[in-house]
Amino acid sequence: MKPNPPIDNALRVALVTGSTSGIGAAIARVLSGAGYAVVLHSRNSADTGRAMAAEMKQAIYVQADLACEADRVRLVDEAIAAWGQLDVLVNNAGISRVIPHSDLASATSAVWHELNEINVVAPFHLVALAESALRDAARYRRAGSVVNISSHAGVRPKGASIPYAVSKAALNHMTRLLAVSLGPDIRVNAVAPGLVDTPLTAEWKEAQELWRDRAPMRRAASPEDIANAVAMLVDSDYLTGEVLLSDGGLNLT
Ligand code: NAD
Repeated sequence: MKPNPPIDNALRVALVTGSTSGIGAAIARVLSGAGYAVVLHSRNSADTGRAMAAEMKQAIYVQADLACEADRVRLVDEAIAAWGQLDVLVNNAGISRVIPHSDLASATSAVWHELNEINVVAPFHLVALAESALRDAARYRRAGSVVNISSHAGVRPKGASIPYAVSKAALNHMTRLLAVSLGPDIRVNAVAPGLVDTPLTAEWKEAQELWRDRAPMRRAASPEDIANAVAMLVDSDYLTGEVLLSDGGLNLT
């Protein structure tokens, strides 16, 4: 859907995918605190999404399965229709599969396709769907940016599984390719977290020990640490094509 005629106003609208839990919820809260109108999204958890939206100053919730192309189109249409503009897209939604890297047989074609579809193809498709609105944001409000949430596993040979790590490496490279093709209107960056304290990683004792013992920051990230990195990239007028490794310095040791 085309956005309404652009208005040179102070409103900034951000769509954050996968934002009813974990890192996405923190990103939505930090952007809301910074004055953004926020479009919350998840595949399930509609009640949580609506409750979060009710708590924020300006927010709506949209349910959509990013495995489904029609849902992607509807999500971006509803996000733009809510305030007639879209300034920021945060591709946070992602999936992981834990498979030991030595267990090649378990990394089936089905696993590769599933991870690639959600972690690579869906973010690309959402950028394509939002492109026109993001260009309007650049033209009329000096805004217009995308932040992809990838992983340190896409930078270093690590991570929950080889298909997961490869999907995040692809997302990092896509970030750089899109920064080139969409500049100067739309800036495209990524945040690549290491271990983040979320319900998903609560039982990952070995990884927690690694961060406590070896990372210069001596701890995993909080979701807010990652959200603040996203806010910094969104706030910039110049940074583009950056993959900001946010691992507390673990990669240095
Ligand atoms: P999470 O499970 O809390 O969040 C994932 C979100 O993605 C959920 O809101 C879910 O609704 C959404 N999602 C998944 N599949 C979807 C689909 N088919 N359609 C629509 N939405 C879908 O996990 P999280 O840890 O907060 O992860 C957020 C992002 O951060 C992911 O991209 C993940 O790969 C990345 N990441 C997480 C960590 C970590 O330690 N938690 C580390 C590095 C990168």
